[in-house]
Amino acid sequence: MATLPVIAIVGRPNVGKSTLFNRLVGARTAIVEDQARTTRDRIYADAEWNGRRFLVVDTGGLEIEPGDSIETGVQEQARIAIAEADAIVFVVDAAAGLTPADEEAAGVLRSASAPVFVAANKADNARRELDAAEFWSLGWSETWAISALHGRGVADMLDAIVAALPPESADEAARRARTAAEEREAALIADELAAGVEPDEPAAWVDEAQPGPVTIALVGRPNVGKSSLLNTLVGHQRAIVSPIPGTTRDAIDTRLGYGQGEVVLVDTAGIRRRGKVASGPAEDRWSTLRALKAIDRADVAVLVIDAVEGLTAQDAHVAGYAVEAGKGIVLAINKWDLVEGKTDRSFDRYVGWIRREVPFLDFAPVVSLSAKTGQRADRVLELAVDVWGERRRRIPTGELNRILADAVARQPPPAVRTRRPRLYFATQAGVAPPTFVFFANDASAIHFSYRRYLENRIRDAAGFMGTPIRLVFRNRGAERPRRGGARRGAGGSRVGGRRD
Ligand code: GDP
Ligand code: GDP
Repeated sequence: MATLPVIAIVGRPNVGKSTLFNRLVGARTAIVEDQARTTRDRIYADAEWNGRRFLVVDTGGLEIEPGDSIETGVQEQARIAIAEADAIVFVVDAAAGLTPADEEAAGVLRSASAPVFVAANKADNARRELDAAEFWSLGWSETWAISALHGRGVADMLDAIVAALPPESADEAARRARTAAEEREAALIADELAAGVEPDEPAAWVDEAQPGPVTIALVGRPNVGKSSLLNTLVGHQRAIVSPIPGTTRDAIDTRLGYGQGEVVLVDTAGIRRRGKVASGPAEDRWSTLRALKAIDRADVAVLVIDAVEGLTAQDAHVAGYAVEAGKGIVLAINKWDLVEGKTDRSFDRYVGWIRREVPFLDFAPVVSLSAKTGQRADRVLELAVDVWGERRRRIPTGELNRILADAVARQPPPAVRTRRPRLYFATQAGVAPPTFVFFANDASAIHFSYRRYLENRIRDAAGFMGTPIRLVFRNRGAERPRRGGARRGAGGSRVGGRRD
């Protein structure tokens, strides 16, 4: 249950932080966030380099306080980075040279225990690279001359940053190994299907390859009622508050007895910590980072929303992150007791409004509750546990291919120029989140809207309430391998699942 390492980008305005952020995050376009119309102020994202995944934060997007001076702003960014990051990229401008705001930030960053990488940006050419030498006076033994805009020097710096991160946790390594194994397995099943062999699998089952309790992150903006909900749940169930072994910072989980087993509410310290940090927009942004880390460690995110205030762009951000990270989602509309003039249609109207605001969350269940009166508070846990199960569910290859055949018969993929792409078959390669691999003659020609169509068909037929599902498209020749030519290795055990 380890958190992804965090790399924070710090620096005064205009040095190129968001340009660097976009380069690190790369071409991984945030489809879900486009739909939430929040792409521009995106400041957190998952990225990967040398096979290592991490979370990048552009602290410049933190908007400390509207009236703050540049110096105060950059110092505040530096403090957040020190508190939350595993590596810090301190961006300065090689074209503009050293400024007082840079010195202020450096002053704060000197006390960081995480490694600091001084990135002298806008070093677009060899002459500018020499200018970068000026920043040695800040006191770090090494500076990295880079051009975030053109990419120059960025790879070398990233190599060094990734090498300086805390060692990969067993969980991260296992996750990587699982993905690779799933890919291989999917290719083998494709061979079988191409050879006309129906893979023998049990009916739909919940994958138990990753045992352990259901982990839930309660997230949402300050004051929506997270700690009230936590207290209500703790009041209703047996609670055990436990520090997480192996974590350095003050992450504390709460375990609750639930049914036969237990659920874990992740990082409840972050929820109880209210008041200790700045209030206003700074606390908002700060709490977002905390929420993302909690989501990383959880199976399911419960996004708590204030019924009166409604859903904000920041909520959409957090939810978008959870979707990208493949986590389950429950939307919990709290303070339902405050909604005036309720009728039996109020809830449906509210849900309709949410569906329009965040169409990319159309698969997430919605519950209205009052943490104050306790009304439907336990329903939040029930839904989260249901979503957990959906997230680990598998559907057999035969059933999936019937869904695919039916979907294609109803509406074939649109032709690109004169050629119509062909989808041969599909298999569910993994769970948590459910991941489906589709084999096609020309995967790149399957249009985004058609991918959405297939996702909707799978959901119509097989559910998967509350969990994102992934559709991956792979190229495959139409030729059929010789029968028996491509069999699984000895044992034939199904990756991540039972085949007994
Ligand atoms: P931020 O305020 O620190 O996030 O800075 P931005 O990323 O918004 O960049 C500020 C300006 O510097 C923009 O006009 C960028 O195009 C430009 N810029 C960023 N990186 C480079 C670079 O490597 N070389 C050059 N020449 N310009 C850059
Ligand atoms: P957090 O910052 O998200 O942890 O929010 P809190 O749990 O501290 O709640 C913020 C305020 O909202 C407090 O004054 C709570 O008493 C109030 N509150 C929380 N849940 C409810 C609810 O369901 N109904 C009403 N009326 N007030 C609530």
